[in-house]
Amino acid sequence: MINIVLFGKPGAGKGTQAEFLKTKYNLTHISTGDVFRYNLKNNTPLGEEARGYMDRGELVPDALTIKMLQDEVEKNPDTAGFLFDGFPRTIAQAEALDAFLVSKGWQVDATVGLEADDEILVQRLLERGKTSGRADDQDENLIRNRYQEYNEKTAPLMEYYNKQGKFHAVDGIGEIAEITNRLSSVIDTLN
Ligand code: ADP
Repeated sequence: MINIVLFGKPGAGKGTQAEFLKTKYNLTHISTGDVFRYNLKNNTPLGEEARGYMDRGELVPDALTIKMLQDEVEKNPDTAGFLFDGFPRTIAQAEALDAFLVSKGWQVDATVGLEADDEILVQRLLERGKTSGRADDQDENLIRNRYQEYNEKTAPLMEYYNKQGKFHAVDGIGEIAEITNRLSSVIDTLN
């Protein structure tokens, strides 16, 4: 069992890299953003609760997000491991994840953070917004709001995992394959 947290600002390339890493290491990829968007599209009760926050570029409340994440984990009891993408995003979520994994005899094995300059990322998101159909990628104010949320609530997680000796920063600028290699060299040192 190996559990990896993929960490990074909006637009840092978590989703792109997750596609490669999940195949390479046979991991179950859970993207909380994707799960929320699926629920929005299908107008589920969860989607209705999350919609306003997502439309404003704010984080969805912890209780809702943690419950959703746990449900996704429970759907995959026989997996070789999880690749968490977009979760945890707050200290409360990280603590809940630790406690939840421990209750199963598991743990977070490593957190890999994709690093990139804010201005490059804002441009990437605006570019992605032209084709992705994501409303939160089409408005620069919403993008900036997501960065503010990240700086206030998510950035402290680097220290949280660093204290546990589990944070590894990776340069997120370069060719996609090159970045996959950088992430892989961290994952290959585990176990
Ligand atoms: P990005 O990393 O580009 O902001 P995501 O697809 O990961 O995009 O998330 C989109 C939105 O979904 C976030 O702005 C937030 O509203 C919500 N969301 C996703 N993950 C979480 C989380 N762990 N906690 C709270 N809200 C979340």
